Amino acid sequence: MSSPVRVRFAPSPTGPLHIGGVRTALYNYLFARKMGGKMLLRIEDTDQNRFVPGAEEYILESLRWIGIEIDEGQGVGGPDAPYRQSERKEIYQKEAQRLIDEGKAYYAFDTAEELDAMRKRLEQANAPAAQYNAITRMQMRNSLTMKADDVKARIEAGDPFVIRLKTPRKEEVRLNDLIRGWVTVHSSAIDDKVLLKSDGLPTYHLANIVDDHLMGITHVIRGEEWLPSAPLHVLLYRYLGWESTMPQFAHLPLLLKPEGNGKLSKRDADLGGFPIFPLQWTDPTTGQVARGFREDGYLPEALVNFLALLGWNPGTEQELFTMDELIATFDIAQVHKAGARFDIQKAQWFNHQYIRQRPDSELAPTVQQQAEAAGFACSLEKAEKIVSLLKGRVNFAHEIFTEASTIFNAPTTYDEAIVAAKWNEDAIRAVTVFRDALQTFDGDFVADAIKHTLSDTMQQAGIKQGKIMQAMRLALTGLGAGPDLMLTLEIIGKDETIKRLENALSIL
Ligand code: GLU
Repeated sequence: MSSPVRVRFAPSPTGPLHIGGVRTALYNYLFARKMGGKMLLRIEDTDQNRFVPGAEEYILESLRWIGIEIDEGQGVGGPDAPYRQSERKEIYQKEAQRLIDEGKAYYAFDTAEELDAMRKRLEQANAPAAQYNAITRMQMRNSLTMKADDVKARIEAGDPFVIRLKTPRKEEVRLNDLIRGWVTVHSSAIDDKVLLKSDGLPTYHLANIVDDHLMGITHVIRGEEWLPSAPLHVLLYRYLGWESTMPQFAHLPLLLKPEGNGKLSKRDADLGGFPIFPLQWTDPTTGQVARGFREDGYLPEALVNFLALLGWNPGTEQELFTMDELIATFDIAQVHKAGARFDIQKAQWFNHQYIRQRPDSELAPTVQQQAEAAGFACSLEKAEKIVSLLKGRVNFAHEIFTEASTIFNAPTTYDEAIVAAKWNEDAIRAVTVFRDALQTFDGDFVADAIKHTLSDTMQQAGIKQGKIMQAMRLALTGLGAGPDLMLTLEIIGKDETIKRLENALSIL
């Protein structure tokens, strides 16, 4: 029987989470839920130079906002705590030591200058790759070339050293990626990677493999940029004696620029005027603020839907998926190899779809706040009616207020083309008799009643309603087109409607 699925999202807190990272987290989550497994969150913070304060909190908040629930890990705890790698130093040191004891790794004392000199030497000799490997290691200062006593003395004296993997010279390393199929690499292409740095902290490679093993990870789902490291990781599993429980790998396709070639960058986002981070981020050193999808008005369910389809689709026509539907349909084997073009218009389209589905009462406070900030009185009830009338016409909740400008403002100008084409004698008569009818109107001023009044009046006056509707709208809003006119009138109220009709009659 295969072991229960356990996946992890393992970001490094080096700044705000890139939207590609959010997709990686999402695919892990969908897979975990689909398989009835667990989703872990591990913080890979062993590179002290790249640590950015606030980044970890940012990651946790982003996942919460988007609706990804962590089962075990940073922020929630669990049996394999701690989940921050900087707090697991001894664990990695122990494994590095074991590799040394078993002859699979070695100490290296080379200084930066010595490493530099080696690189230059190799470049001058036209060596294919200037790397520390099975051949070059024998000319360097390490425990393979030094006397055991010297090595011991140096370590005892506190001399700085790193621990390097003793990569085999001739071995084939194969892995079966769930998305890409078999990937084969010859070990001569892998250098003697540093596993433990001179500050006693592990490199990403060692810490990642040790933790994935200890945390029982069954599937590693991550970005394509890690594919070149995967053979090294396979080798590490082999050397650590964990090959039989090695996780399966799935390397996700890149997110591409909007034009479709090259990797999506922050610069592309800035140029295109769209966010690339889930939440707004203030750089702790420069104070610079980068926009976020949340603050730009994207709904989390829209972003989830958009990201889920960047690199995967179920092979049907369906485009709208709730998180639960995604979980039910997601299949890691169907994820594409080719990069996915980041089309922000599509993200807006998804947002439009989900704004339409949001209950009016949830969007109304935004409209009310904006209206009041602009100096208009607006009850929640009125805001709700506005939402109901206009939410189908916008991509973002904050656009509803802008769209409602003809409701809050009586027209001061009138569309000239419509005036020229439609403001004729019939129109003037229609507006006049309608105004008269409204003056004696009593009862609830609601769309249906207004509609009846209008059609009754037009019939009595012998005016074809179809012919004057655009002029009527012009008189009331200044424009030739817009949302349902009767509902608009219900919202602006009887007195304001009459006032606008009179204005039009006196101005036009
Ligand atoms: N810490 C790595 C990152 O920031 C994790 C890569 C992996 O999932 O193995 O992307």
